[in-house]
Amino acid sequence: MEMAGARGGRPRVGLVPTMGALHAGHQRLIDLARAECDVVAVSVFVNPMQFDRDDDLQKYPHTLESDIELCAASGVDVVFTPTAAAMYPAPPNCTVDVGRVADHLCGRHRPGHFRGVATVVMKLFQIAQPDRAYFGEKDAQQLAVIRHLVSDLNVPVDVVAVPTVREPDGLALSSRNQRLTPAERRVAPALYEAIGVARQQIEAGIVDATRVRQAATRVIEQRQGITLEYLEIVEPVEMQPVDRVDHPVIAAGAVWVGSTRLIDNVLCVPPPASPKRTGKGGS
Ligand code: AMP
Repeated sequence: MEMAGARGGRPRVGLVPTMGALHAGHQRLIDLARAECDVVAVSVFVNPMQFDRDDDLQKYPHTLESDIELCAASGVDVVFTPTAAAMYPAPPNCTVDVGRVADHLCGRHRPGHFRGVATVVMKLFQIAQPDRAYFGEKDAQQLAVIRHLVSDLNVPVDVVAVPTVREPDGLALSSRNQRLTPAERRVAPALYEAIGVARQQIEAGIVDATRVRQAATRVIEQRQGITLEYLEIVEPVEMQPVDRVDHPVIAAGAVWVGSTRLIDNVLCVPPPASPKRTGKGGS
């Protein structure tokens, strides 16, 4: 690993952008940043610009004291906790417009969400000037948006993707899980189960994306207390839906459990295509 000595004495800075209510998923990002960087900064900022619903913003959990404790125990050097007024002293004139990568999935269901995400991440990059920034695969479309942001706007930051941390029953860790009642918590893993069905079907060689989607959707529809917002099979770069699954794809979904919205996704890799017969060679 190339550390400060090999970089002319300039420390390598790692940034972990978060909205707080930190859990073991965030911890995984922080631990990786700590292992790879000289200076680790964690931002805790519930960004109003990325919320499409005021009630969701109002209900978002805040646990700043324990967040700072987790950061201190994990060897974080800087915790950046700006107020909304500090980040947006006035409504911004200039924001980051996000194109087709936001056309489906969460982008379709949360208008303006990714413009808010891309704008705040760009601001955090300018403020912290990181060499590397750490993002979870749990938010696959967000990760794709950030990758496009960095390459389209020539931002000198390495984006590092970190695998999703899950509960033993498969539920992806999320700050929003805190809001689930015990009954809601019991039904919540159905989302992971559904996208798992999509993965199984794809791994079994089913190439018709509509058929895969229907099988996965059925898992949610058969349950009480959970409502599907979307479940899509998309390619992993531009996040566009596919008709045929002949390359690795992402099965991504969003559900409502009571008044809580949860998202999750898995990478699904089809089996290698059987070799074409050429009529030549062999016995
Ligand atoms: P959030 O505070 O929810 O905005 O998340 C901050 C960062 O942590 C984002 O890059 C998320 O993708 C990542 N993250 C959230 N939950 C998980 C998880 N369960 N596993 C891995 N990364 C996560």
